Amino acid sequence: MYDVAIIGAGITGCSIAYELGKYNVKTVLIEKENDVSVGTTKANSAIIHGGYDPKPGTLMAKYNIKGNIYTKELCKKLDVPFKQIGALVVAFSEEEKKTLEELKERGEKNGVPDMEIWDKAKLQKEEPNVSKEAVAALLSPNVGIVSPWELAIALAEVAVQNDVDLKLNTEVTGIEKNDDTYEIATNNGTVKAKYICNAAGIFADKVNEFINEKTFEINPNRGEYYLLDKSQGELVNHVIFQCPNEKGKGVLVAPTVHGNLIVGPDSQPTSGNDTSTSSTGLNFVRNTALKSVPGINFRESIRNFAGVRARTKEHDFHIYEDKENKGFINIGGMESPGLSSATAVALDIVKMLADTGLVLEEKNNLVDTRKVHRFKHLSHEKRAELVKENPLYGKIICRCETVTEGEIVDAIHRPIPATSIDAVKRRCNAGMGRCQGGFCGPRVQEIISRELNVPLKDVPQDRIGMDIITGETKDGGAK
Ligand SMILES: Cc1cc2nc3c(=O)[nH]c(=O)nc-3n(C[C@H](O)[C@H](O)[C@H](O)COP(=O)(O)OP(=O)(O)OC[C@H]3O[C@@H](n4cnc5c(N)ncnc54)[C@H](O)[C@@H]3O)c2cc1C
Repeated sequence: MYDVAIIGAGITGCSIAYELGKYNVKTVLIEKENDVSVGTTKANSAIIHGGYDPKPGTLMAKYNIKGNIYTKELCKKLDVPFKQIGALVVAFSEEEKKTLEELKERGEKNGVPDMEIWDKAKLQKEEPNVSKEAVAALLSPNVGIVSPWELAIALAEVAVQNDVDLKLNTEVTGIEKNDDTYEIATNNGTVKAKYICNAAGIFADKVNEFINEKTFEINPNRGEYYLLDKSQGELVNHVIFQCPNEKGKGVLVAPTVHGNLIVGPDSQPTSGNDTSTSSTGLNFVRNTALKSVPGINFRESIRNFAGVRARTKEHDFHIYEDKENKGFINIGGMESPGLSSATAVALDIVKMLADTGLVLEEKNNLVDTRKVHRFKHLSHEKRAELVKENPLYGKIICRCETVTEGEIVDAIHRPIPATSIDAVKRRCNAGMGRCQGGFCGPRVQEIISRELNVPLKDVPQDRIGMDIITGETKDGGAK
């Protein structure tokens, strides 16, 4: 019997698991997929927003401001790639200049520090590749860029080291309450817990309805992206937004923490977890982005992808303990700025659990730090030391990103083992470069097979069922 069951291992669930790991609380993190961070958390703009966009008084405003500060602290502590580069919202007309003033005023009400409005001359000086048609910009210096999946993985790894149980490949299919205990039905048997945190992303409304009447509804909304090669990564120095509209924050152009350029997203109603991309969506993204930064060379695109927003009609987070079911906490509607807010939301979830009866006793021997070897960022001396210690660090497997076999083996044996080619990519960047794993993918597959002692054909590209090898031609097993 667990004290707390968390459903969903995206940034929300992983943040809650990390915070609960600090206490002597028996916690389980339940995820239907074969890795953490494979829902919306792996497919978004990767911005730690400043907090000037949400309406004052909303949960989004409250948690964005707190999360902006706390997430930076956690990235530093847990060795997660993060850069505070600031954001510029660009205006193209006198009318839009008024929007900048409104955003600044809203940001100040929300508590965003040090915002400034730049005139055209200052904007051109700081961002020479931004369109000459732009007339002004709002600077929010507290905005950052992050590796969202690495943040979620880091939080979950530390939670696991602090004795949180992680159940992957476990889909919650029903919930029943018997006296003070929740019985959670899954494809892997029943899990019992006294408290539940529903952090199931775009399916949080469905999980809520396992035990409840409909109290909120998610209308999934898809956003499509271009990811461009590092040749485009230095075109802009800040995150470049256009003025927001009724559909959201609009199309942005930004460097990524890994040195690429990200461009997107659009906004389209969709159903379920439909992460396909379309020529209509991508054309819209491309044409809109060229208005902000006309020199983007889209021939340098290395990948398109899409993420799905957990949008609700209230356009705010739905964070509350259910009135009918004590100890059942919904964390729904986590659309943007959900990534920026999740770490702060988790702090309040722990308080809510304590208020409803969970006993919090601090853990002795807490793990609260993490260090990852990133070979390409080391000095020559450090590299030599590492290779001497373990010659696998002297073997480059991913040539685009300079990732060594040592780093891949580390990724496979970390507290949450990487069991697919993309799980390795999310942990150490092998396959993230220009060839997108065309060369290193098969080598990574062999290394996983060798290290985990599983047949090569059982190592998928990503989710279970995304097979690369279906059988051996010589024994007639290929389909
Ligand atoms: C296009 C786009 C751009 C965005 N840009 C930003 C941004 O720049 N900055 C920002 O702050 N926010 C951004 N966001 C929002 C941010 O990505 C989300 O708020 C955040 O990732 C949500 O995390 P989550 O953990 O709530 O959901 P998810 O990451 O989706 O995790 C939910 C998990 O629950 C699991 N699950 C679902 N149902 C079940 C079940 N029945 N049993 C077991 N497991 C289950 C899923 O497999 C999934 O892993 C963006 C979102 C999108 C779509």
